[in-house]
Amino acid sequence: METTRSGFLNDEGPRVKFCSRCGCRIPVTSPYELCKECMKKELFPKVKEFINENYDVNEMMVAQEFGIERSIVHEWVREGHLEYKKRPQF
Ligand SMILES: [Zn+2]
Repeated sequence: METTRSGFLNDEGPRVKFCSRCGCRIPVTSPYELCKECMKKELFPKVKEFINENYDVNEMMVAQEFGIERSIVHEWVREGHLEYKKRPQF
């Protein structure tokens, strides 16, 4: 699980690193060790639970809660994976 190939196989220069789970390339500018797909697999169920348990959650709150970028959360929402729960109005 902790295998990283970026140490020796960086013949393409230092601008490449690899996902620590699946080994696919991720942008070196990424602050994470996982690619977006693995991040999604790992965090998505938790994010969904978080949203289900809290009203008026927004991207910012999710991003802060899980320490991920807002753009990633935004992507999940846009892809239809997440739906924010609105506080019922009576
Ligand atoms: Zn991955």
